[in-house]
Amino acid sequence: GGPRRCRRLEGEAARAVLANADTLLFDCDGVLWRGEAAVSGAAETLGKLAAAGKRLCYVTNNSGRTRAAYVEKLRRLGFPPAEPRHIFSSAFCAARYLRQALPPGAAAYVLGSPALAAELEAVGIPHLGTGPAALPGPAPADWVKAPLDPAVRAVLVGFDEHFSYAKLCQALRYLLRGGPDCLLVGTNRDHRLPLEGGAGIPGTGCLVKAVETAAQREAFIVGKPNRFMFDCVAGEFPVDPARTVMVGDRLDTDILMGNDCGLTTLLTLTGVTALDEVRGHQDSGCPARQGLVPHYYVDSIADLLPVLGE
Ligand code: PLP
Ligand code: CA
Repeated sequence: GGPRRCRRLEGEAARAVLANADTLLFDCDGVLWRGEAAVSGAAETLGKLAAAGKRLCYVTNNSGRTRAAYVEKLRRLGFPPAEPRHIFSSAFCAARYLRQALPPGAAAYVLGSPALAAELEAVGIPHLGTGPAALPGPAPADWVKAPLDPAVRAVLVGFDEHFSYAKLCQALRYLLRGGPDCLLVGTNRDHRLPLEGGAGIPGTGCLVKAVETAAQREAFIVGKPNRFMFDCVAGEFPVDPARTVMVGDRLDTDILMGNDCGLTTLLTLTGVTALDEVRGHQDSGCPARQGLVPHYYVDSIADLLPVLGE
């Protein structure tokens, strides 16, 4: 679209946006909570939205938890009750993608967490590779002699604490063996995960890039900003983009996906983004950067409480 001006969502505009919405998609970390601590007032805000009859869905790039674990975390932090089908995590969406893209019986070589493995098992996809890798021989040149699983037809890369050179070698071997018949899928490209006090740890994007570099091909990404994640929501519920609000704390994932899918986008400043970044995109005059500009912002989603009434 044309140039946007991001406005604070309050008062009459807030009432109108919420009245027009029947579905709200919430990014999780940085919006509802930071790590284990709920954002103050966030649970109450979602409680009122649920009471007002809004459909609440959760869209997260974190591939490190199962849908069941999200349902439990929402419950533990006092959010309104959610069912697994309201949770669209990159682990679940990756499993959904492979279920539709792989022939029956085909397996995935997985750089990822036990949660990613569990989501694959839930849709019946055999997998191998998760957990620490045993070195297949004394030197990398010997590793390429170890047998490969004949059923593997995809390499899936998610958040993997046990990522290693040995696993990277194995991923490359499967991709070279299968050529274009071996899918390369990444859960998300987040480059860094913010921790308290300005610290950060490398995100899944670093791991995806390593495999892409080795294989010299581009992965299909299921997570935000790819619209595949929204398509998963739209496949499960009858959502009208014009009546859907995407709430997120990150411009290059949450807001970009929302804008690309024709949703109303709302940035909250409780996460990784400062308002100056929005102004930078907005004032750049660069058409390609307008997709990073949200329609609205709030300091916190708890700012919506006053317009949600009793
Ligand atoms: N990936 C990992 C491994 C994470 O731990 C997190 C946040 O905790 C994210 C991605 C980003 O998640 P979200 O999309 O909910 O902000
Ligand atoms: Ca986030």
